Amino acid sequence: MLKKTLFLFITFVTFTLNAQIERVEPTFWWVGMKNTQLQLLIHGTEICTRSVIIQYPGIKILKVNRACSPNYLFVTLDINPKTTKAGTFDILLKQPDKKDLSFRYELKNRRTDSAIREGFTSADVMYLLMPDRFSNGDPTNDNVDSQPDKMNRNMENGRHGGDIKGIQDHLDYIRELGATAIWCTPMLENNYEKASYHGYAISDYYKIDPRFGSNQEYANFVEASHQKGLKVIVDMVSNHCGIWAWWMNDLPMENWIHQWPVYTQTNYKFSTLKDTHASAIDKKVFVDGWFDKTMPDLNQQNPFLWTYFIQNSIWWVEYANLDGIRMDTYPYNDRNAMATWAKAIMTEYPHFNIVGETGLYNTNDNAFWQKDAFNSLKYNSQLPTVMDFTLQTSLSTCFNEHGKPWEEMGMNRLYNTISNDYLYASLKNILVFVENHDTQRFNNLIKGDLDKFKMAMSYLMTTRGIPQIYYGTEIGMTGNKDKGDGDIRRDFPGGWQGDSINAFSAKGRTAVQNEYYNYLSKLLNWRKDKDVIHNGLLTHYIPENDIYVYFRYNDKEKIMVILNNNLKEISLKTDRFAENLKSFSNGTDVMTGIKYDLSSSIVIPKETTLILELK
Ligand code: CA
Repeated sequence: MLKKTLFLFITFVTFTLNAQIERVEPTFWWVGMKNTQLQLLIHGTEICTRSVIIQYPGIKILKVNRACSPNYLFVTLDINPKTTKAGTFDILLKQPDKKDLSFRYELKNRRTDSAIREGFTSADVMYLLMPDRFSNGDPTNDNVDSQPDKMNRNMENGRHGGDIKGIQDHLDYIRELGATAIWCTPMLENNYEKASYHGYAISDYYKIDPRFGSNQEYANFVEASHQKGLKVIVDMVSNHCGIWAWWMNDLPMENWIHQWPVYTQTNYKFSTLKDTHASAIDKKVFVDGWFDKTMPDLNQQNPFLWTYFIQNSIWWVEYANLDGIRMDTYPYNDRNAMATWAKAIMTEYPHFNIVGETGLYNTNDNAFWQKDAFNSLKYNSQLPTVMDFTLQTSLSTCFNEHGKPWEEMGMNRLYNTISNDYLYASLKNILVFVENHDTQRFNNLIKGDLDKFKMAMSYLMTTRGIPQIYYGTEIGMTGNKDKGDGDIRRDFPGGWQGDSINAFSAKGRTAVQNEYYNYLSKLLNWRKDKDVIHNGLLTHYIPENDIYVYFRYNDKEKIMVILNNNLKEISLKTDRFAENLKSFSNGTDVMTGIKYDLSSSIVIPKETTLILELK
């Protein structure tokens, strides 16, 4: 009897659990969006044969599409901008002989200032951090029952416990350093058994990873950042999802992801995209191959997947009030789909900015990915900003070399890289950096040489584009990528209770850390209101004797930058720079306040940059 009752009870529970709508995504939406169409992904057991009923003023069902799996419906709505008011309504799924299923859906009012939001610009300095490695503000979320990858600070690829609260607790630190925008590596749920800390294997596109916090905590963090005058840039991943993404056991369609008879990894060969001689298989493997065994390759050519993804990006911008997007592994996606994606976002937010991870090592390849770039393939990516890995490569070696004028060495590298700028459609929208979470730590490359650090930073903050630093750049954090990614993603000292050094305060930093910090902080704070650096023109001179000279100028101001990469003091004649110096006879170095007479020659100390405001 007991057994029978139990059986009936279990059957009842199972039936009840089955008979429900498990997910509707986007989880809610807004009235007042420029694109009035909305695609709802509805997921629930065997719902595909049901009819969909929505009764709400202004809402019309345009299409109902069944997927290959019986457990999905894709419903496309039109939200009439004039007659639809914010509010809630029921999505009703009906089928004769079955109990009705319903889901309460909400349309919110769009933020009144949403369309005018300004994205990051060349007036900003971006501070890139890895949330797991920056600061553990909330030890109660270090381990979460639903997530198998538990905290282990002894493992370089383990979770270290950093979170949203840890970042929010240090907004003043970032602001005082002089950065104006924060780029956090991805914070969406990465439900995976190991090495989930980096965030690039997303398992739920509508949920902040509970080990970082909640969606609400994330939105609060963005709001708190805005109150401090800091912008927030979200890191998104459209090329691949995580192997434990919620849909992997029940794909809506077979071609939701790229499937291969045997595991096929991308060949990582960007050249195949533009190469007119490339074989079809090489091209296909590059774009459709998986980035990693744990990262299934999403099929951006599936219109349902792609609409889902575009809406997801807009959802996060609107929900969390974001200031920019950094898109991962940009060229690995279907390039036409990416253009549609970028255009959809820029249509909703015309003053927004997006930077793509264009990991290309020559300007010709990189410029191809920038919106409105000229190319014979007539491709327009619609992507406003690209990353300058070419310049980053030059910067990673040039301060360690002292070559002949005709050699690709030293200051010639910087000159040669910048001299290809004619290929770019917009010089303001190039992200410039010496390091990020995928490169060698810059301080490792220069072996902790403070002079070289100062030269690199002074260059980065005065050349064209949008400078980006990486958490720890400011205190000379080091790490060797050859030892694994964990080594270039060390915990920020002071971010964990009990840390022996607290680099968040001048008192807590070592003397050497303060030398790094003080130099960079002064430079960044000086840069903040320097329109001549943000938007001014740039004229440079062929390096001679490993000295590189350039000018930044607009109608009101002129700045002369001199990099002496020599291991000795050099006296430089100034007559060669007459076309820019004109009537200026002296300049004041912004870092030291020392005034230099420029009428005939100038002495520059060894391995030093002078940033001279001309008077
Ligand atoms: Ca934590």
